[in-house]
Amino acid sequence: MLAAAPRDWNVFKQIFADHWDGFTQTHPRYQTAYYTDLVAKMLACGNPEKMGYVEYRCQHCGQGKHLVSMSCKSSLCLRCAKVYVDNWVSQVSTMLHEGVIYRHLILTVPAMFRTPFYHNATVLLSGLMRCGTQCLDDFLSTVRGKTLRGGAIVVLHTHGRNGQYHPPLHLLAASGGYESQRQRWEHVEYWPYALLRRKWQWHLLRMVRQTLKTATVNRLVDECFRKYPQGLVTNVQQGTVPSQYQSVARYVAKYVVSPPIAVRRIDHYDGQRVTYHYRSHRTDRVERETVEVSTFIGRMVQHALPKGFQRIRYYGVQATKTFAKVKVLIHEALAKVKGVVQGAIKIIARLTYRQRYEQSTGRDPLSCLHCGEKMEVWRIWHPTYGVVYDEGQKIKRGTYTSSAQQAGP
Ligand SMILES: [Zn+2]
Ligand SMILES: [Zn+2]
Repeated sequence: MLAAAPRDWNVFKQIFADHWDGFTQTHPRYQTAYYTDLVAKMLACGNPEKMGYVEYRCQHCGQGKHLVSMSCKSSLCLRCAKVYVDNWVSQVSTMLHEGVIYRHLILTVPAMFRTPFYHNATVLLSGLMRCGTQCLDDFLSTVRGKTLRGGAIVVLHTHGRNGQYHPPLHLLAASGGYESQRQRWEHVEYWPYALLRRKWQWHLLRMVRQTLKTATVNRLVDECFRKYPQGLVTNVQQGTVPSQYQSVARYVAKYVVSPPIAVRRIDHYDGQRVTYHYRSHRTDRVERETVEVSTFIGRMVQHALPKGFQRIRYYGVQATKTFAKVKVLIHEALAKVKGVVQGAIKIIARLTYRQRYEQSTGRDPLSCLHCGEKMEVWRIWHPTYGVVYDEGQKIKRGTYTSSAQQAGP
């Protein structure tokens, strides 16, 4: 899929082209095939000879041509960042269930744990996502005084707006829990925040202590309990998220966007230092910053999660199979307490390349500039597999059945 290229994507690439090798010398953590590939793809993105392409031709007048380069779809790529976020939104929104009330919870990790999290990402980030839902179950059970199992879509967010390492968890939590003994859904309307803060602190610190088991971490954990006797910062979106926002997923995506989107504008690059601006969540103002190029690259790549790591996970009753069973019960319970449930969730479909192009340019990319007819796929070329589709060959061979008319990158 091809996204409209932001003005500064060349500068972004230039920075990586100039300094990626040097950066990995001083940051051996990134000397892996995974990161090498991520950067190489991003650098090649948009280049049809490196990435492959789909060529369209007008078979009506024979003049119109349109070449679409394959994209890298990397979260690191500024050119693909919008596509990345859109696909993300679509993925989350298809997992939301209509008629269910969700709450958006943000569970934070205090700054004192940034270093251990940065250095032990693989083990700690998985633990973090799990303990978010354990905290949710424990919280709901305590509030109701019985064992409840919640359901949540958990999203890990590994960077602040300026790209600094900061891993809060976002939970889209169904507003209640399932009591398996009596096979019923218990709606929880009132969420006592003070309790949630303490529960979160306890679950997070226990997980960190048990995972790392070092004297340094034990000291940090003790210090954290002393420093924050009221628990850790948690943020619960008031009210029912779906009724206020057209799409819960898009709303959450505002927080969990990839850094290239957050760092949309690079103002200046002199070969050694980068000046860029971003909108700060904390102050809700545009902030400007100048940093050494290695710091900039570090901020861009550290959010790229360990290979194979799932940024979005589904837990409890939200896990697909379980949910189908429990959904009916949720609806019954909600109907009792709320009457008719309002605020149906809007499912957002992925846009095709053609729709995306039309949205950003106002022009249908596949309509022939010469005669206005719709162009068809003529050839698809892939850097590894070569020509994978060739309409011209088919016509010559006389085995013409156009099967790839709807194909796209
Ligand atoms: Zn034409
Ligand atoms: Zn790309």
